[in-house]
Amino acid sequence: MTEATAPITQDVVTLPRKLPEGGRTNLVGLTREQLRDALVAAGTPERQAKMRVGQIWQWIYHWGVRDFAQMTNLAKEYRTFLAERFEIAVPEIVTRQISDDGTRKYLLRIAGGHEVETVYIPEETRGTLCISSQVGCTLTCSFCHTGTQKLVRNLTAAEIVGQVMVARDDLGEWPVQGAPKDETRLVSNVVLMGMGEPLYNFDNVRDAMKVVMDGEGISLSRRRITLSTSGVVPEIARAAEEIGCLLAVSFHATTDEVRDRLVPINKRWNIEALLAALRDYPRLSNSERITFEYVMLKGVNDSDADAKRLVRLIQGIPAKINLIPFNEWPGAPYQRSDWERIEAFADIVYKAGYASPIRTPRGEDIMAACGQLKSATERERKSRAQVQSEAGLG
Ligand code: SAH
Ligand code: SF4
Repeated sequence: MTEATAPITQDVVTLPRKLPEGGRTNLVGLTREQLRDALVAAGTPERQAKMRVGQIWQWIYHWGVRDFAQMTNLAKEYRTFLAERFEIAVPEIVTRQISDDGTRKYLLRIAGGHEVETVYIPEETRGTLCISSQVGCTLTCSFCHTGTQKLVRNLTAAEIVGQVMVARDDLGEWPVQGAPKDETRLVSNVVLMGMGEPLYNFDNVRDAMKVVMDGEGISLSRRRITLSTSGVVPEIARAAEEIGCLLAVSFHATTDEVRDRLVPINKRWNIEALLAALRDYPRLSNSERITFEYVMLKGVNDSDADAKRLVRLIQGIPAKINLIPFNEWPGAPYQRSDWERIEAFADIVYKAGYASPIRTPRGEDIMAACGQLKSATERERKSRAQVQSEAGLG
């Protein structure tokens, strides 16, 4: 980090004495501009603001400090001034479960007593953190556990960034001052594949990812962040331009008839409209391949004809097809395709020239696998009959 700057004591006397009404403002999740505005509005002299933002930013996002008293390159009076007006708050861990395969699932409590889940998946060459963007989801994909929970609310940018900070706390990943620089990263990738539809919480997701990508903090490159959408077509170009991370799309079917049933947002924006938006994404975001997620549901979308239709549909789009064996949850109206079927499907896709990895289910024993997340926040749940009827099986 940069050397400590000598405190400018004469400025301290100009700091306002009066405390703002209401609670302290959380600094987590603010963009650099918002942080600057917050410091200035509280009384930080304008000409110091840029430097203070840089200093505080590094303490929070590079060193992982939560207490203003530890920000030793700021004058003591200024630290007190900050502590009276601001806080550095992240969600609270309610429970942490560790799977036999090392996957960690955190149940986090956020303001209002709501709960969300975050999952850490260690692999040999990387560690992926799967974060949530909403409590529940407005969409009702018929194979998804989260989809049976109504939307409670969008997460704030603080709560989205906070999930990354909580995981780094738990994994002990913040650098230690004075220690040799360690380049191994436990959280090396972030995927927005937890609870919620990230493109229906666009601004908060964008601001949070800006914080996570900032080179003087958590510093994850945009190529290590993947946003998964069910297909909110009008927001896809915006995601390319304003976030620029990698994109994954929950494709899951090769005809509108089946996709309408699995991913009901298809009734609004069908396969053709979705593909048109996806074709533009790599150019607009200057990124590489799009990941097509495809959940393997026995007898529903897993035939050879589906595989052939899939490769025809995506022709011309730089893509990888991620086959996800369906993860069951209590009352789910589907079954996982047989292993031989999944492999036969993968083979057709592979021979057509696309990488077709089969996603190994992780953390199934703790209900941490894709689509199994659902917090108990919202007690008002859909009945099993309602889920089945929406899946066209009732
Ligand atoms: N809402 C976003 C991101 C969250 S889900 C989206 O829908 O893309 C991450 C991935 O898991 C999506 O592709 C989703 O369709 C898939 N998924 C949901 N439920 C699943 C289940 N029970 N088994 C396997 N994959 C599932
Ligand atoms: Fe929501 Fe994604 Fe689940 Fe569909 S798959 S209900 S969009 S979280």
